[in-house]
Amino acid sequence: MAGVPAVEFDRVSRVYPDGTVGLSEVSLRIGRGELAAVVGPSGSGKSTMLHLMGTLDQPSSGTVRIDGHDVAALSDRQVSGLRGGLIGFVFQQFHLTPGVSAVDSVADGLLYRGIAPSERRRRAERALGRVGLGHRLTHRPNELSGGERQRVAVARAVVGEPLLLLADEPTGNLDSVAGQAVVELLNELHADGTTVVVITHDRELAAALPRRIELRDGRIV
Ligand code: ADP
Repeated sequence: MAGVPAVEFDRVSRVYPDGTVGLSEVSLRIGRGELAAVVGPSGSGKSTMLHLMGTLDQPSSGTVRIDGHDVAALSDRQVSGLRGGLIGFVFQQFHLTPGVSAVDSVADGLLYRGIAPSERRRRAERALGRVGLGHRLTHRPNELSGGERQRVAVARAVVGEPLLLLADEPTGNLDSVAGQAVVELLNELHADGTTVVVITHDRELAAALPRRIELRDGRIV
């Protein structure tokens, strides 16, 4: 739907059971196709915000809408469907299964979608080509560099062509050259129309992105 933001927070708070405030009355909109960095010191609420955007957590109050859907109004099953269909995740630790080839890892990103295995493989090969790993299809994680592993993880996250790609410190475990390649990749995905939200401690990376959402003590500053 044109005009519907990819992400909309309306006075969203998240208070943990022990009383700790993760987010406090945060309102924001991230439009379709935006590329935004979430920045702030440790404990400022970045992960809390990303979990809420990823429908991995629910707010204590306020409304989270993903592609116009009020997450709290959906059943667990509908939330899983929304997450599986619209959201891709990339983490600092890559989360690739040892012994599984790049193409199989990426094809697994399309499980439970009713897509035939041969078609899953074809799409996985294309996604790996897109991240510059068309020559590493059968390599296993231990045969890949850190930067290549992260690009496999990105390929897995985008193989289903999600509306929203959420990346949590994607360059945190990489040297600067490999980190730069991942940043370029995020920029390319953004140029192709994917909405990308990236948590980062990396000032340089954040400065290079078109939008920064700065958090302090659970609030946007
Ligand atoms: P960041 O990602 O910026 O480091 P977080 O979102 O992880 O910040 O944390 C925000 C605040 O919420 C911190 O004070 C943190 O200690 C607290 N917090 C995060 N997760 C939990 C949890 N599961 N239980 C209690 N407090 C939490």
